[in-house]
Amino acid sequence: MASKRVAVVGLGIVGLLAALEALDRGYKVEAYEAYEALGRGASGHNAGVIHVLQPPFINRKARLARRANRLFDSIASRAGFRLRRLPGLIVYRGNRERLLAMGAAGVLRILGYPVRLVGQGVFRDLCPSSEARVDGAILVEGYGTVVPWEAVRAIGDLVASMGAEIHYSTEVEEVRPARGGRGPIVRSPLGDREYDAVVVAAGADTARLARQAGLRPPRMGYYKGVMALARLDCRAVAAPLVSRTRSRETKGGGVIPWPTGEVLLGPTFQATRDPWDTSYTRGDLEATAGLYTSVLGFAPEPHAGFAGTRVKNLERDDFYTEARRGVAFLGAIDSPGFTSSPLLARWALEAALAGGGGP
Ligand SMILES: Cc1cc2nc3c(=O)[nH]c(=O)nc-3n(C[C@H](O)[C@H](O)[C@H](O)COP(=O)(O)OP(=O)(O)OC[C@H]3O[C@@H](n4cnc5c(N)ncnc54)[C@H](O)[C@@H]3O)c2cc1C
Repeated sequence: MASKRVAVVGLGIVGLLAALEALDRGYKVEAYEAYEALGRGASGHNAGVIHVLQPPFINRKARLARRANRLFDSIASRAGFRLRRLPGLIVYRGNRERLLAMGAAGVLRILGYPVRLVGQGVFRDLCPSSEARVDGAILVEGYGTVVPWEAVRAIGDLVASMGAEIHYSTEVEEVRPARGGRGPIVRSPLGDREYDAVVVAAGADTARLARQAGLRPPRMGYYKGVMALARLDCRAVAAPLVSRTRSRETKGGGVIPWPTGEVLLGPTFQATRDPWDTSYTRGDLEATAGLYTSVLGFAPEPHAGFAGTRVKNLERDDFYTEARRGVAFLGAIDSPGFTSSPLLARWALEAALAGGGGP
């Protein structure tokens, strides 16, 4: 029997892992990427944290990230990109924050998270570059960091080596769900092609493609994040328990040691109109590096940096995932979407295949 044909639209981390999942199950894969290379969207321009804790801890995003985190070790070793495993530290200062930390750690333990309270000595050992007065921290096991563009390219090479046919510089114009005995159709400059299942993971463009297919995706907004790289000795992902900068500016950013030995500071969080915005200035990098003085005690000098833009669901704090007649749509995959991508990809493939035959 001929193997099923799966199309993937958009090769960010979600599309790439959907392609990998389909290849692992023995399907033929064809992928469409609008850009001339991989990593154009958020997947090539993010902070690279494989998350454990994600406020508010109990919603779908938080649960997906926690479960998907563990899948990254095997993906990294198969594709051959660096994954640095390290603890997280949520640092506190003063008696009021100590009480808050004790309460938070207790609740997180009840929810099953691997956390414990540690004193300032552990913080100093793990982050010797810090000059901040810190009284202790909640230590969280199981974080990871990757260099996002390195991970995306390595997975791209892996799926190509497994036989995926990748069409670069090929923007999909429309995806038509299955109908009247025909499978779903992908319309692109290559013509109309029919498949058994289609996964649409086109970042900001998913909403347009879903509307064309007769669905009603939520309203989405775009938020740019600037990230600065500095040379510091820190071996834990560290963030303040109580942000001393406005939370809208940092949205949970922190001090993030990368597999390269550099430390990433950020990301920030600013509304933008362009979903593919990656612009920044030297001033943006310096301002971002200065946001974490409560963890570092000083503003480090950034030697490099970059920016990327997230697509957020403006109607609820959730990803957009919907399947109809052989097509699964994934949009508004904002943070922690990189972490959650292996499970989002698996869901999308299964949902698309389950509806492949049409009504
Ligand atoms: C500043 C920032 C920091 C972040 N930090 C983290 C973090 O530390 N940890 C974490 O887990 N998550 C993080 N995220 C979130 C994470 O990056 C995203 O959730 C994830 O990368 C989304 O992947 P995606 O595949 O859905 O989208 P994208 O990476 O945007 O991929 C979509 C792809 O589709 C292509 N495309 C678009 N339209 C079409 C079309 N019509 N036809 C064909 N191709 C098309 C695009 O060119 C693109 O390559 C961060 C995001 C940002 C912006």
